[in-house]
Amino acid sequence: MPHLPEHLLAGYRNFMSGRYPAESGRYRSLAREGQAPETMIVACCDSRSAPEAIFDAGPGELFVLRNVGNLVPPYAPDGEFHSTSAALEFAVQSLKVKNIVVMGHGRCGGIRAALDPNSAPLSPGDFIGKWMSLIAPAAETVSSSTFMTATERQTALERISIRYSIANLRTFPCVSILEGKGRLSLHGAWFDISTGELWVMNKETGDFERPELA
Ligand SMILES: [Zn+2]
Repeated sequence: MPHLPEHLLAGYRNFMSGRYPAESGRYRSLAREGQAPETMIVACCDSRSAPEAIFDAGPGELFVLRNVGNLVPPYAPDGEFHSTSAALEFAVQSLKVKNIVVMGHGRCGGIRAALDPNSAPLSPGDFIGKWMSLIAPAAETVSSSTFMTATERQTALERISIRYSIANLRTFPCVSILEGKGRLSLHGAWFDISTGELWVMNKETGDFERPELA
C-alpha cells in the first residue's frame, strides 16, 4: 500500500495518463541532456502563487526557488546554512540563467507576519519571525504610516520586499558581475491571487505596472 495521500496519487495518475505522455519526449531529452532553464524565479512558498502555473511553464523551463516571502538575503559568506544563496549560486554559476525574477504576491502571510509580529502564523521556534526580520526596517517604516490602510500597507511591503530582494541579489558578486556584462537581467513581479493579475516592476522607476498582453 503506497504511503501517499490519495489526492496526490490521483493527481499523479492524471499526470501519467495526460501530461506525461504529451510531454514524454521533452522529459526524455531533459533526462538525457540535463536542464538548461534560462530563467530563475524566486517566489513565495504560498500554495496560491505557483510560478509554473502562472507562467504556463513546462518541464525544464523554470528554475524555481521558493521560500517564505520570496526573500533573497544579503550575500554573507559566513559558513552558515544558506539554502537560498546556494540555489542562487547554482542557477547563476552552473546553469548560467539569463534572467532572475523575484515574484511576490498579494495576501502574503509572511509579509503580514513582518508587519505584525504578534500575528499568526509564527511557529513556536519563530523561524518565520527571524526570516522575515530581513525586511524589519521596511516593515517598521510602512507600519508607522497612519495614512495607509492595512491593505495598502500589506501591498506596499509586498512590493518593497521585491525591490529589497533585487537589491540583495546585486550584493552577490556573481550576480553583479554578470549583470554588468549584460548576461543576466533582474526583474520584479507581483501576482494578485484574487484576480490573476501580474504586475511587473518598471526597472527605471521601481513601480509596478500591468504588462501589455496583446
Ligand atoms: Zn507569501
